Amino acid sequence: MNKKIPIEISARHIHLSQKDLEKLFGKGYQLKKLRKLSQANDFAAKETLDIKIGSKTIKKLRIVGPVRKETQIELSITDAFSLGIIPSLRLSGDIKGTPGAVLIKSKKRLKIKKGVIVAQRHLHCNFEEAKKLKLKNKMSVSVKIKGKRALVFHNVKIRIGKNYKLAVHLDTDEGNAAGIIKKGKGEII
Ligand SMILES: [Zn+2]
Repeated sequence: MNKKIPIEISARHIHLSQKDLEKLFGKGYQLKKLRKLSQANDFAAKETLDIKIGSKTIKKLRIVGPVRKETQIELSITDAFSLGIIPSLRLSGDIKGTPGAVLIKSKKRLKIKKGVIVAQRHLHCNFEEAKKLKLKNKMSVSVKIKGKRALVFHNVKIRIGKNYKLAVHLDTDEGNAAGIIKKGKGEII
């Protein structure tokens, strides 16, 4: 099993529920597409928000669409420390008991009670790719990165979905550690 797997680095971003989107941008608001992302119908939206946690703020956090069931903010551990919070390492969607934040859109403010996570590193693939690579949903694999900052990422969670495309998702801390800017390659070992 040494097939090359594309690696993609996810910068910090926010997903909004339709309800929260409308509270900040107005009734019936639709996100505007800036560029398509690799998985399913995901896209980086033109819209950004500031988020405040305690006394600290992150400006212009990119919104990733389409809207989700629940609002969720994905940060790196470096971001979490700079905001003074203890990071909750979670798979996307698992936000129970995570820290909250205040979302700011010019003069509008919206407090969310939970939803700030650091995404657990994961590998997306569809059913055919999973079969070929002998991967099962929710299992963990190790992914080796070559180069000057060569390393192995353990505990990469497999996420299988009909509309997924083969790619490992890491955050910016992980990408920096491995010397990967935006995109790279790895192999399952
Ligand atoms: Zn992902």
